[in-house]
Amino acid sequence: MTIREATLQAAAQLRETAGDTPLLDATLLLAEVLEVSREQLIAAYPEEISPEAWNAFRRLVDERSRGVPVAYLLGRKEFYGLEFAVSREVLVPRPDSELIVEVALELIARIGPAARLHDCCTGSGCIAVAVAWAVPQAQVSASDLSTAALRIAQHNAERHTPGRIRFQRSDYLQDIGGSFDVITANPPYLTPAEIEVLASGEPREALYGGADGLAAYRRLIPEAVDKLSVNGYLVLEGGREQHAEIAALLREAGFAEVSCHRDLGGAPRVTVGRLG
Ligand code: GLN
Repeated sequence: MTIREATLQAAAQLRETAGDTPLLDATLLLAEVLEVSREQLIAAYPEEISPEAWNAFRRLVDERSRGVPVAYLLGRKEFYGLEFAVSREVLVPRPDSELIVEVALELIARIGPAARLHDCCTGSGCIAVAVAWAVPQAQVSASDLSTAALRIAQHNAERHTPGRIRFQRSDYLQDIGGSFDVITANPPYLTPAEIEVLASGEPREALYGGADGLAAYRRLIPEAVDKLSVNGYLVLEGGREQHAEIAALLREAGFAEVSCHRDLGGAPRVTVGRLG
């Protein structure tokens, strides 16, 4: 069997079973097995695949067929132009969450480059690292409930922004001291029905937002009031149908200038409030 045939056969299997990008996924997985780039893989299409490589590839394709994200199978995912290590202990960084970074950078441009930012529920650390990387003077810290996630986040921070980010374990903001100009969070916000259809093997505690998906915001928003400086901003990712409810929770807690930012697909994704 040639490398081309192996790729197309796997893509046909994945088309039936998992995801929207079967050919890309098959290509990425086989390139990983053969330790070559995607370009090199395509150049090697006419060559025969070895039995060992075929077996290793089959195993990865079967896992992908069962819904395991390519990022877990490769152990990495690109976010904001940077490569992040990921494991099954953290949520796979989503392109949608780059919007949090964009919004935070706009706010920092207004506040000043030495702004203090805390990223809560940091997971792989992708948001904190992207901000610290983009603004060398920003004072960035990050927290997560999961020590396993913090280890991954620390690894990613050492790689891209060594010595810049302070990490701490905390249940939401409960154990975080200090005062911040910006707090960002991509908390768990899926409802039980949404989790059921998401058979990705991602950590449930990073996704499950209680019966109505809003439990995290009910904790996080009041806690943020005590940790933000006057005129500080809270920047929250949410589900596409949650913006109005998150905005209401922000206003109830005393936030003003509540605004909504849309993701690349045009869906309301990030809600921001300024502490008045
Ligand atoms: N955006 C993720 C998803 O839809 C959910 C992330 C989260 O709960 N924070 O899979």
